[in-house]
Amino acid sequence: MDLLLSVRNLKTYFYTYRGVVKALDGVYLDLAQESTLGLVGETGCGKSVTSLSILRLIEPPGKIVGGEIWFAGRDLLTLSPQEMRRIRGAEIAMIMQEPKVSLNPVFPVGFQIAEAIAAQRKIGKRAARKEAVEMLRRVRIAEPDKVANQYPHELSGGMAQRAMIAMMLSTRPKLLIADEPTSALDVTTQAQILELLRDLVREVRASVLLITHDLGVVAEACERVAVMYAGRVVEEGSVRQVLKEARHPYTVGLLQTIPRPGDPREELTTIEGSVPDLIHPPSGCRFHPRCPEAMEICRLHIPAAVEVAPGHRVACHLYAETPGEE
Ligand code: SF4
Repeated sequence: MDLLLSVRNLKTYFYTYRGVVKALDGVYLDLAQESTLGLVGETGCGKSVTSLSILRLIEPPGKIVGGEIWFAGRDLLTLSPQEMRRIRGAEIAMIMQEPKVSLNPVFPVGFQIAEAIAAQRKIGKRAARKEAVEMLRRVRIAEPDKVANQYPHELSGGMAQRAMIAMMLSTRPKLLIADEPTSALDVTTQAQILELLRDLVREVRASVLLITHDLGVVAEACERVAVMYAGRVVEEGSVRQVLKEARHPYTVGLLQTIPRPGDPREELTTIEGSVPDLIHPPSGCRFHPRCPEAMEICRLHIPAAVEVAPGHRVACHLYAETPGEE
């Protein structure tokens, strides 16, 4: 498996007046060339901080304090701000949840896409404009010529997200980071956008890091999935391994919270307890105060990730052979 992105022991902390928030505390992730990895977990688990760390867009009081982010053979954490800006424009693109916030409200969408294309390639204005209209057509926008002249506020949520996808993929990035790209949309539009994203990334041969709290979206759009809890990845594997043969008690709990068609339960299961305070995180395994399987060792040692099946890794003492870090 050729890796495009490999995150090793990434630590991102926020220095607040209440204390140090250890938002990411030893994150490991691997993303293969031309594949899609879903990053899932509850709000506050560190998914978005992971994507902003990869882009090196963490603002004070946040700081990346350790680890490595290998992307296409370079450790992004060793690059100068100028080199990083170039990579953000040309090689890594990001789609946010709210496209209307990311699109500039004062310029027509066609103009914005053409500018993004012209910034990456030596291409005349007219050719860039023509390509922008073609990109709008490829994201299945009807009357792309007309829409190219419209401003973001004139578009529906689904159309704006399509325009955003067109803009991001027009630069032909190697990596697309999509942070909750469909959660502001209705279910039908959500399915259409996911399908579109899947087709287009295949066409431009990009890899995707898809951040979502929705396991249904992962099942639709991803090949592999990493589950995060309180600043660490606790389980990683293929979508089938994680969704059908989950081993980590947190993943098992998360799966039980999904409503299924014909489910006779009147109330959905929720995972008992709440997400821990990351200024004073629980010792050992951070999930131990909520874990129905917790043992004595869980309070004392951080479980190391072990491979329970080829390509399926779990960080839990139920599967560990050694105690792990204290
Ligand atoms: Fe539960 Fe212990 Fe596994 Fe953590 S390490 S998930 S507390 S069994």
